[in-house]
Amino acid sequence: MDFFSSLPKKENGRKMERTLSIVKPDGVRKNIVGEVVKRFEKSGLRVSAVKMVSLTRKEAEGFYAVHRARPFFGSLTEFMSSGPVVVMVLTGDGAIKKVRDLMGATDPGKADPGTIRRDFADSIESNIVHGSDAPETAAFEIGYFFNALEIVN
Ligand code: AMP
Repeated sequence: MDFFSSLPKKENGRKMERTLSIVKPDGVRKNIVGEVVKRFEKSGLRVSAVKMVSLTRKEAEGFYAVHRARPFFGSLTEFMSSGPVVVMVLTGDGAIKKVRDLMGATDPGKADPGTIRRDFADSIESNIVHGSDAPETAAFEIGYFFNALEIVN
């Protein structure tokens, strides 16, 4: 299923995109789900789908399968299954880059001031938020959590 096929190519002459974001277990524990969503919405993105889920270890491993060979795969999937997460589809002009700019660098110590990770994250692994890094990744990640009927906006 191509989750981009239902998207108008352009809205007011701009290229619309969808991306997947996750408020990770540390973001939920810190009670900043609303703060993260507020930053996305203030940047002009629309929430097109949202739900809270508790990932099993296997589900976290499936989501991060591209990182299977990385040394941090075990601790990352343990962390991602350590508590509930909020997964959402965001839609807007250049949504993928916009979300990544708002998140900041993976390592909060290297993230720009004013970014979500710089403001809230404790470490390179517990870094509050995830955002798809490319259209192909976004298509896989959106499909991992949502079916077409659940993406409404
Ligand atoms: P990415 O797909 O690049 O966002 O990486 C997935 C996630 O893996 C990151 O958001 C971090 O939570 C984690 N991660 C990336 N690099 C490291 C690292 N060197 N050590 C521990 N965790 C990492």
